[in-house]
Amino acid sequence: MANPYRGRQLALATQHAKERAIAPAFEMHLGLRLVVPAGLDTDSLGTFTGERPRPAPMHETARRKARMGMSAAGLPLGVASEGSFGPHPSVPFLAAGHEVMIFIDAERELEVIEEQISPETNFAAIDVTADADIDGFLRRIGFPAHAVILRADTGLVKAITSRSQLDDALQAATGPTRLEADMRAHLNPTRLGEIGRLADKLARRIATPCPACEAPGFGVVRAERGLPCAECGTPTDLVNTLIAGCLRCGHESRLPRPDGQVSATASHCPECNP
Ligand SMILES: [Zn+2]
Ligand SMILES: [Zn+2]
Repeated sequence: MANPYRGRQLALATQHAKERAIAPAFEMHLGLRLVVPAGLDTDSLGTFTGERPRPAPMHETARRKARMGMSAAGLPLGVASEGSFGPHPSVPFLAAGHEVMIFIDAERELEVIEEQISPETNFAAIDVTADADIDGFLRRIGFPAHAVILRADTGLVKAITSRSQLDDALQAATGPTRLEADMRAHLNPTRLGEIGRLADKLARRIATPCPACEAPGFGVVRAERGLPCAECGTPTDLVNTLIAGCLRCGHESRLPRPDGQVSATASHCPECNP
């Protein structure tokens, strides 16, 4: 089957100019043209800055966002992404961004999701105290190309992109004051780049047909642990095999690790290194 999406339109729900990062991948790999419906309130699904808590986990929020865009644009195809930021799950003291992107094809009742956790983020904050190194913080987060948010008793000032705006906001602030990197995509080129990488991964996957039934979106669905110890062959906790699957017919195939590693060092072995 040829690519079923060439020349069709895809709704993207975003208030934060994510089309700059998402459109090229979907155009290149699938021939889809992005449509961004005007006037959507995706913030009603929750915000980073906590004025409105997110009511649902990331996957569900992304799904609702995509559906919102599809119904606003009157299209059966939709895409949306959702991010969250915090400490890296496996590397202490390192920040990480977690991005989820969903593609929905309502005609085929198909939903393809890709996600990535990456240390490539400027997520950071600093308390404004007498000895705080504000300039160092601003340099670290890439200000003013990356915007900053000020949080104080006087409220929240978002999207600060110049030193004079920041000085005014600091002047007006009372009580404990904190500066944070603004993580919204249109004010954060680092995040926009990560969204672009994820869009590429998702579009490539949608462009991959199932070898059995030709449904779009054939790709890795889970990983099996048990990479054998190099010394004694005992299965370890490391990933041994990736399983690629079809979202429609359930066909699966087994793939070796992408890094080519076929055994684990004894330090990972429950027998050699209990
Ligand atoms: Zn299939
Ligand atoms: Zn061993």
